[in-house]
Amino acid sequence: MILPASRTNAEAHLYMDLRPCTCGETRFDRQSAVVALEDGDLAARYSGPCPACGRAREFTFRLPAEPTLAPSGGFHYGAAEPSQLLDPGEWLWAADAYARLVPAGRATAEAGQRAQATLFRAVAAVDEVLKFVPPGAESVPASAFTSERGRDLHRRDPGRFRRDRLAAVRDAYTEMLPPIG
Ligand SMILES: [Zn+2]
Repeated sequence: MILPASRTNAEAHLYMDLRPCTCGETRFDRQSAVVALEDGDLAARYSGPCPACGRAREFTFRLPAEPTLAPSGGFHYGAAEPSQLLDPGEWLWAADAYARLVPAGRATAEAGQRAQATLFRAVAAVDEVLKFVPPGAESVPASAFTSERGRDLHRRDPGRFRRDRLAAVRDAYTEMLPPIG
């Protein structure tokens, strides 16, 4: 199966993280290669054996027509267009997961840097949810949820997908960022 374009490597890896092997293991040694598809487009293929059960894992993402430029500071999963791989519920789930990984105290400079990198990912994931709010709309439309995980999160708490709530969460994560330097 050829998947839609991943805008960044980080987006491809997050997509794979959310789709475990049938045995439940998410990780595998992801050897990557650029391959040509039958229609002439290029794709990025990640493949390797599952470390738990040995099953061959493989994901093939189309490469975007235009490379996504990295932002000047921080971190992002893609430019302004919404993801074609993950739905807004999966992005919010990822943001929650990253935020939970941030330790309360920062004993060392290294721990502080790790916390900052994790928070950058949480902020970037919330930004991805916001990209699904149409201009002028108050919240993410129900039709945007295409995954089981995403639909489930939306069903349980649709209010979390309101633009103002998302902006508040984003602000809260940004305030948790330790000062740079
Ligand atoms: Zn497995």
